[in-house]
Amino acid sequence: MREKRKGMLLVISGPSGVGKGTVSKCLDDEKDIIFSVSCTTRAPRPGEVDGREYHFVSEETFCRMVEEDGFLEHAFVHGNYYGTPRKPVMDALEAGQSVRLEIDPQGALQVMEKMPECVSVFILPPSFAELRRRLEGRNTEKPEDVERRLNNARGEVALKDRYQYLIVNDDLETACAALRSVVSAERHRSSRYYPAVEEE
Ligand code: 5GP
Repeated sequence: MREKRKGMLLVISGPSGVGKGTVSKCLDDEKDIIFSVSCTTRAPRPGEVDGREYHFVSEETFCRMVEEDGFLEHAFVHGNYYGTPRKPVMDALEAGQSVRLEIDPQGALQVMEKMPECVSVFILPPSFAELRRRLEGRNTEKPEDVERRLNNARGEVALKDRYQYLIVNDDLETACAALRSVVSAERHRSSRYYPAVEEE
């Protein structure tokens, strides 16, 4: 059977510390879904490679890209700027490929507004106590930063109904299985899947 598919724009978001990066990584082996490499003004962490995890840019470059309307969305997240370069996303979608964005909730709401046909997924913590435990366990934030992120998380979770799909990241395997099912179902949506049934 000849099959044609339209690419999907998959937006995965959730509060800081919920493990959205870990959950969304389960889609790394889906070769037809490209990961959108964001720009950020934060410094690379050990092991991060420019152009793989992020494009690490100066504030000056970032501001220029904002002025040139080079971002599909951008936001100031925990003291640094982050943005999704527009062109690679649009080019991939036009070529029929799917794209995965892994971005904070401010950016996710912008994309949902600009690209209403996107597939939006929000990753939830099983509880705020567990989210606190995960944030504290990372040992990367000062106590006041943990409190700020938890407060932000409450506001972000309050907007969960704006997303099409909700996945609770309690057990990682279960959360990944749910994400894979969402992707699978969305691939079969008649608005982006055109199998041609051949004549006898
Ligand atoms: P980190 O610096 O820990 O990699 O990411 C910090 C936060 O920024 C995470 O919530 C991550 O999802 C988010 N983020 C990464 N790239 C983008 C982006 O392009 N746009 C927005 N709005 N958030 C992003």
